[in-house]
Amino acid sequence: MSDDATPKTKSPLAGLNLTFLAQPEGAQTASAAPAPPAAAKSVDARVVIVGSGPAGLTAAIYAARANLEPIVIGGIVGGGQLMITSDVENYPGFPGGIQGPELMGLFRAQAEKFGAKIVDADVDRVDLGSRPFRLWADGVEYRAEAVIVATGAEALWLGIDSETRLRGRGVSACATCDGFFFRDKEIAVVGGGDSALEEALYLTRFASKVHLIHRRDAFRGSRIMQDRAANHPKVDLHLNRTIEEVVGTDHVEALRLGKTDEPGEERLAIQGLFVAIGHRPNVAVFRDWLETDEKGYLRNDGATTASNIDGVFVAGDVDDHRYRQAVTAAGEGCRAAIDAERWLEAQESHEPRATTAGLATAR
Ligand code: NAP
Repeated sequence: MSDDATPKTKSPLAGLNLTFLAQPEGAQTASAAPAPPAAAKSVDARVVIVGSGPAGLTAAIYAARANLEPIVIGGIVGGGQLMITSDVENYPGFPGGIQGPELMGLFRAQAEKFGAKIVDADVDRVDLGSRPFRLWADGVEYRAEAVIVATGAEALWLGIDSETRLRGRGVSACATCDGFFFRDKEIAVVGGGDSALEEALYLTRFASKVHLIHRRDAFRGSRIMQDRAANHPKVDLHLNRTIEEVVGTDHVEALRLGKTDEPGEERLAIQGLFVAIGHRPNVAVFRDWLETDEKGYLRNDGATTASNIDGVFVAGDVDDHRYRQAVTAAGEGCRAAIDAERWLEAQESHEPRATTAGLATAR
């Protein structure tokens, strides 16, 4: 496809310097690994940011204002977890609250205003073994002097249709974000780990009753949290129960519960369901290059956002299983952009050198 085939005004890459790569006829890779996708174009950038949630777009705002002309490879479904969050009342600056997608639209507009280019594509593959770093997305090769990884984490869901249909209408995966809306209401939390126990206890501040539903007869979470939940007057435990259906048309009205220890079903009238069965960090394309912790989240060095590879920075929920808030992710995105800017400045007087890819074996 020729570049001219894409109208300039619609191209997310409009204005970028594109190089067409010749694809050698019959070219084969020597290794057994699958050949990289044929990249029709390549784009050079000082900073490529992967991810367009609060961390990625805040990094983009800061990097753009530092004249680094960042490219954000934001994902086909960009915007992160806030795109599936309705009312956001805890993001500073919006005393009346704001809808999650609207907030992410504002982040994006602000990043673009300062010159960040946002590409709505998923990164398929990366090579962080030497500089410039290379990333492939939607048939384009991006070559970056520095990379910021801000791919976020996804809440795990039960996977039943009624849960999906009622998400944002009483079904949530974030007690800190949405608990406030359930003042004096009867609600349920599903899960048996520390997250479920913690969310159930947190929600007792608002709800009149919290039903904690777990599929087994023993919790996975810590003993102290189990005891607190079991002894809390507002928490009712429902063990050996599975959620078969979230009942309701426009909002949650009840749960249809199955039993794992005996035949039968029961109905539990509630107005909200918090799903707390774990999160999965989006690390797939980086797993072979960047260090992860024991929970599978990317590691940065803590004091800064530097990863184990010089020039690659990590920010947001992809490295944070503790706070998981839009504002903490945005804060870390800011730190990553400042770290990248300072690192690039420090490189200017040096020749490029090999990376220290701790875990990396080139794939
Ligand atoms: P987790 O420990 O993996 O627990 C997930 C729970 O959800 C398990 O009880 C599991 O049931 C249940 N579950 C999974 N899939 C399910 C499904 N499809 N249907 C019903 N139930 C399902 O996850 P987490 O609670 O988010 O914790 C993750 C890590 O963060 C843990 O290491 C935890 O200790 C840590 N954490 C720490 C704190 C803290 O220190 N304050 C707070 C939160 C989390 P089974 O037990 O049957 O597998």
